[in-house]
Amino acid sequence: MSTRNWQGKHITVAGLGVSGIPAARVLHGLGAVVTVVNDGDDERARAQAAELEAEGIAVRLGDGATLPEGTELVVTAPGWKPDKPLFAAAAEAGVEVWGDVELAWRLRGRDGREAAPWLAVTGTNGKTTTVRMLASILQAAGLKTAAVGNIGVSLLDAVLGDEKYDVLAVELSSYQLHWAPSLRAHSAAVLNLAPDHLDWHGSMEAYAADKGRVYEGNTVACVYNAADPATEDLVRAADVEEGCRAIGFTLGTPGPSQLGVVEGLLVDRAFVPDRQRQAQELAEVADVQPSAPHNIANALAAAALARAFGVEPSAVRDGLRAFRPDAHRIEHVAEVDGVAYVDDSKATNTHAAEASLAAYEPIVWIAGGLAKGATFDELVRKSAKRLRGVVLIGADRELIRDALARHAPEVPVVDLDRTDTGAMPAAVREAAGLARPGDTVLLAPACASMDMFVNYNKRGEAFADAVRELAAERA
Ligand code: ADP
Repeated sequence: MSTRNWQGKHITVAGLGVSGIPAARVLHGLGAVVTVVNDGDDERARAQAAELEAEGIAVRLGDGATLPEGTELVVTAPGWKPDKPLFAAAAEAGVEVWGDVELAWRLRGRDGREAAPWLAVTGTNGKTTTVRMLASILQAAGLKTAAVGNIGVSLLDAVLGDEKYDVLAVELSSYQLHWAPSLRAHSAAVLNLAPDHLDWHGSMEAYAADKGRVYEGNTVACVYNAADPATEDLVRAADVEEGCRAIGFTLGTPGPSQLGVVEGLLVDRAFVPDRQRQAQELAEVADVQPSAPHNIANALAAAALARAFGVEPSAVRDGLRAFRPDAHRIEHVAEVDGVAYVDDSKATNTHAAEASLAAYEPIVWIAGGLAKGATFDELVRKSAKRLRGVVLIGADRELIRDALARHAPEVPVVDLDRTDTGAMPAAVREAAGLARPGDTVLLAPACASMDMFVNYNKRGEAFADAVRELAAERA
């Protein structure tokens, strides 16, 4: 599919949504004949369809399965499952399918400007944090950049807008990578790999392979997590440009071609003139907020990508110092009666919760919600010795209760037996009752929030409100 001339090309956009609507408009603006197909046919979809139709874009509601006659290219919302009939029809007709990322990749530099290189980040957890850290470091180096992809500026806006970027810090999900066959980043990092979204990808192998696409064609560095050998395997499997290097990050002392930690310092033994004998100090561990182990790992990954792009060590330090985490990601809410209250509502899976439980001790853990098919034995086994007590909320709390009974029978558990939005203040009170001075009450649910809240933001806000209420009472 040539991207030079879109005039009169018949393009089907799959999905009315945050990626589909802008994609349809952009393609229509380039002269393509665009049809949007959408499974749903509710009031919202009809309103959106009416707007697009008024602009000259055709929309078919209630039928996301049939490939419109004459389609030359499908541009899909990343979340559409690969086993949908629409894609079988496209394959049958020999029609390519691109996701939102592929479209942005193909359209970059269209206006004759030199396209900004992409520094890409994927992984099961820590993507948003790492991309924001990376953008902060690049900015500290005086580069014009933006955190784009799943966060902040949309990729299409970034590649087509008026702003001229030197480099982009790009967050990519496994879905987006699945649909981005020709993406070639300057450098990329896979932060970690744990089972997630397996119903979508079909298997752990397929999930890993989609994540691994981020390394394909890298020109300068493939950054992997030395503590997660699966990420290094993906580097080995990738077809990269001649001279591209594999760069590891580790929370321990770095070997040659790695970044790591030595005596409270983040150090670089990869981008130095003599990596056998030299290490370059980048920043102090205390420069990373919060300095929980998994967040240090995120900082090292961001630093590796920035260094691969030629950023000076002092900019790594300044960028990390300037970085502030997004809300609900191990966010310190308040200290009440000597107990710290930390909101990690974004820990929506067990791998994320495991990281935040590893960062504190002793902990009163508030957990539960929608398990999405997860099991909790490993998480509880690894965290048991840090637990002062547990307060359970949400639909699937009994799965966690059973795991606790098996692996931490001595830890006191309060099962609130509630799934209503108003349960959070009660959970916080129960947690306060279990905690002793010096403890941390940690909301790290290891579950999705939709059984009780609109999203994880609302869950985190409910927690923070309840903590502030408690603080006001006790003041
Ligand atoms: P993502 O964009 O991948 O969802 P975020 O940066 O938003 O990642 O972090 C989501 C949650 O994952 C955090 O609240 C934290 O609990 C956990 N987390 C962050 N970084 C890591 C990491 N490197 N390893 C494991 N868990 C992490």
